[in-house]
Amino acid sequence: MDNGCALCAAQHEDYRLVYKDEHCFCIANIEPLNHGHFMVLPTRHVSELGSLTAEETHAIHQLFHRLEKAVKNEYGHDALIALNRGANTSQDHIHYHILPIPHAFRKVVSRSEGLPERVRGTVEQLSAMRDKLVKHL
Ligand SMILES: [Zn+2]
Repeated sequence: MDNGCALCAAQHEDYRLVYKDEHCFCIANIEPLNHGHFMVLPTRHVSELGSLTAEETHAIHQLFHRLEKAVKNEYGHDALIALNRGANTSQDHIHYHILPIPHAFRKVVSRSEGLPERVRGTVEQLSAMRDKLVKHL
C-alpha cells in the first residue's frame, strides 16, 4: 500500500532496516546526525502518540530496551531516545530518534539552547515549572 508516506515506505528499505515486527520497526536514519543515528517507528501510519495501541506501545518499549543495550555495546554510549511526532516535523508519522551520545540529553539540550552544561534550577523555578504542567493533567 502506498499512502505517500516516506516513513511507511522506509520499512521496506532493506539496506537500512535493522528490525521489524508486526507493531514496530527500526531503521538507520537517512540523514544521520552522527554515526549510530537510528529511528524507531510504529509499522502502522500513526501521527499522534495517543493513537498508538497498547500493543504498539509495548512493542516499541521492548524494542527500546533491546536497542539501548545494542547501542551501548556497539558505540559505548547510552542512547538518547527522543520522540518526534507529526506536527512541526518533516514527516507526519510518529517516530523516535535513537542517538548514541555521551551525556546525551544534557549535551543536546544545552547546545541547542546555548546554555552551560549544568544549571541547577531554584526551588521557585522548578515549582513554577511544575505548576504550569500540573494544571493541564
Ligand atoms: Zn507513515
